[in-house]
Amino acid sequence: MKSEIISVGTELLLGQIINTNAQIISQELQKIGVDIYYHTVVGDNKKRLMEVFHTAWNRSEVIILTGGLGPTQDDLTKETIAEYLNIPLVLDEESLNRIREYFQKRHREMPINNMKQAMLPKGSKAIPNQKGTAPGVILEKDGKTIIMLPGPPFEMEPMLKDYVVPLLSKKTSAVILSRVLKFYGIGESTLEEKIKDLMENQTNPTIAPLAKMGEVTLRITAKAGSAKEAMSLIAPIESQIRQRVGEYLYAFDEEKIEDVVARLLLEQNKTLAIAESCTGGLMSHKLTEVPGISKSLDRAIVSYSNRAKQEILFVRSETLEKYGAVSEQTAIEMAEGVKRISKTDIGLSITGIAGPSGGSTEKPVGLVYIAYADSSGCSVEKHFFSGNRSEIKERVANAALHLLRK
Ligand code: ATP
Ligand code: MG
Repeated sequence: MKSEIISVGTELLLGQIINTNAQIISQELQKIGVDIYYHTVVGDNKKRLMEVFHTAWNRSEVIILTGGLGPTQDDLTKETIAEYLNIPLVLDEESLNRIREYFQKRHREMPINNMKQAMLPKGSKAIPNQKGTAPGVILEKDGKTIIMLPGPPFEMEPMLKDYVVPLLSKKTSAVILSRVLKFYGIGESTLEEKIKDLMENQTNPTIAPLAKMGEVTLRITAKAGSAKEAMSLIAPIESQIRQRVGEYLYAFDEEKIEDVVARLLLEQNKTLAIAESCTGGLMSHKLTEVPGISKSLDRAIVSYSNRAKQEILFVRSETLEKYGAVSEQTAIEMAEGVKRISKTDIGLSITGIAGPSGGSTEKPVGLVYIAYADSSGCSVEKHFFSGNRSEIKERVANAALHLLRK
């Protein structure tokens, strides 16, 4: 919301008083995300005020004027603006009553001149003045908001805080925007260590880490007047984070690892076949959550028993006997087997011990082999995962998906 302030008063131009009104208005509005683009000072002169207002009208959505709402001849803000906008001034009974009361309380006669202060642009709203006689004005026209406030700061300030700030904060509805960066292969504490200084020195945006299931996320949150502005606060922080730990960054916001993998497979036009043992199809399930994956995923086999590994994937019985189902050799034969029978570009296999029982000292619960086979050969990853049965399955499925991303 582009806004500007016009301070009316020859005393300001002559240097007799300092323009503290502009300062206070700017400070208050900055807090609620209203952007002040210009401060203008103009004397008590109709022609020049009109020129200044003309410029403001053409470039700003909110124009705040102070000064020149007094009862005397040289006070001409309302008259000038009303004339520029071609709106007549009409008597506001309520304002007149308040002015009358003001004088009654002080046991003074109301000078006839003060009647002028109750004349407001037609269709505008009065802002009651608790400290003086001149009401403020809120005028909405052509999607723009014009606010006129009296010059004396002790009158102006309460009107600003009680009426103008609430009105404009409703219009700005400051935007809170978050960007989530997802990392894999780096621990939370290592990540924090690397960006500690950034986290400590940030108030807007803020950086908050969150760790879950083997992945670490950073949430960058900015508060600003508009989404665009919030993004421009986030962007430089994000690029600094990327410079430091970008190699571990794999996704943003709602995007999951399966989305990233699916996107890569489809982009590269690669076909995939999966053979899962201990994850019982969890990896395939995740991947099949992504619409359109059928163009890439040919099949997924849950070969849980040794017999299934032999009969479906052609894992050799010698391999199973010599090395066991949870072994590098079995993982390789599973990946190559599933790739061969399905004639895909990639064969991926998972074999491991999800627990809680079934582990041994050489092969503890959480030991998992993930093999990746393509035309250039086969590679195997060995992992030790921790957690309960379903946590281990979850971590393994994610690790296998991350292997496809590499
Ligand atoms: P009044 O009813 O007192 O005439 P007004 O709304 O007509 O109020 P001005 O006549 O422009 O306002 O200014 C009145 C007094 O308010 C000034 O003499 C000055 O003391 C103070 N004032 C006006 N404008 C500002 C400003 N921008 N910053 C600080 N003080 C100001
Ligand atoms: Mg005056």
